[in-house]
Amino acid sequence: MIPSVLPNYNRAPLSFAKGEGSWLITEDGRRFLDLGAGIAVNVLGHANPALVEALTEQAGKVWHVSNLYQIPQQQALADALVQKTFADTVFFTNSGTEAAELAIKMVRKYWNDQGAPDRIEIIAFEGAFHGRSTGAIAAAGSEKMTKGFGPLMPGFRQLPYGDLEALKAAISDRTAAVMIEPVQGEGGIRVLPDAFLRALRALCDATGALLVFDEVQCGMGRTGRLFAHEWSGVTPDIMMVAKGIGGGFPLGAVLATEKAASAMGVGSHGSTYGGNPLACAVGARVMDIVADEAFLAEVSRKAGFFRQRLEGLVASHPDVFEEVRGLGLMLGLKCRVPNLDVVKAAYDEGLLMVPAADNVIRLLPALNISEADLAEAVARIDRTAAHFGGQ
Ligand SMILES: *Cc1c(COP(=O)(O)O)cnc(C)c1O
Repeated sequence: MIPSVLPNYNRAPLSFAKGEGSWLITEDGRRFLDLGAGIAVNVLGHANPALVEALTEQAGKVWHVSNLYQIPQQQALADALVQKTFADTVFFTNSGTEAAELAIKMVRKYWNDQGAPDRIEIIAFEGAFHGRSTGAIAAAGSEKMTKGFGPLMPGFRQLPYGDLEALKAAISDRTAAVMIEPVQGEGGIRVLPDAFLRALRALCDATGALLVFDEVQCGMGRTGRLFAHEWSGVTPDIMMVAKGIGGGFPLGAVLATEKAASAMGVGSHGSTYGGNPLACAVGARVMDIVADEAFLAEVSRKAGFFRQRLEGLVASHPDVFEEVRGLGLMLGLKCRVPNLDVVKAAYDEGLLMVPAADNVIRLLPALNISEADLAEAVARIDRTAAHFGGQ
């Protein structure tokens, strides 16, 4: 008999009754150090008092009103995002998938309004993850996500990630857009070199193709900048954001330049819940904290500490770990033993980590994790590695 919850997830036999900062606690009192943060979502940890306050304060006023009306919380968050980024305008969604969906629609509508309705080809990349809608799985294109769901939405092709020669050969004045994660998350914490991003921007400028960054996982302070692309100095025309932006409350956004968004007039798109007052009240508080330069500098400082310790672990367990990769607090441990086995062994050490493709374990702690908790994490990963006969 099929379970009452659709059995589409491979869940660990763990459930948590309470969260405190970077810790999750089971009903029977077992404490787990959380290096997954709900897959880069809980950027300010669990039960953060500032976010609890923002949510409960709004909850006592108004939960939902529909986008038929002005929503001041939405306006405030959009203003903050526009002020801190390349963007001129913002549309709010409830998830990253919905952000991907609008990014694709925005690209198509843009070229349609430019008098080029046939200019629909979007170049995406192998190993990408943009969500699970029919459009998002067609964009990423992997067999794992698309098999059995055909026919796929047309208009996408995938190139090897970070392959500049393949991109040069593929892009043309018929390309509608290029969609890419500046740091791949699900694909195994793969960082694009700044030089690639700069060359990509130049190719888009030369051909007119719109540049779409998916910063759903690598954005919102994760890499030590508010958005990962800032390290390269390159800006996109459209950007997808979600995960960290709501700090655990469902929220996503599409940020765009005035030009890229120019075709999205009244009635062109919409969402019942997108930009809901509760979500935006929390999102605005997250932005207040995370977009602060001093906060971001602390992320980079702690990331440096963590990374150095992780390099030490790789050196002392060369039969378990191959390398550390990533940027800021978006780190990956490439394993020599099956990554899922390591993630499972870590449960016995009270440690939560997240698997990714390419036999990598993702370490995506809350951005406000303490140095003491990071040191504790390293000790627990060390003990986990010992399960595999590591020295
Ligand atoms: C998680 C993720 C998405 C999808 O977001 P959902 O909120 O799960 O719909 C899209 N792109 C990237 C890079 C992601 O990591």
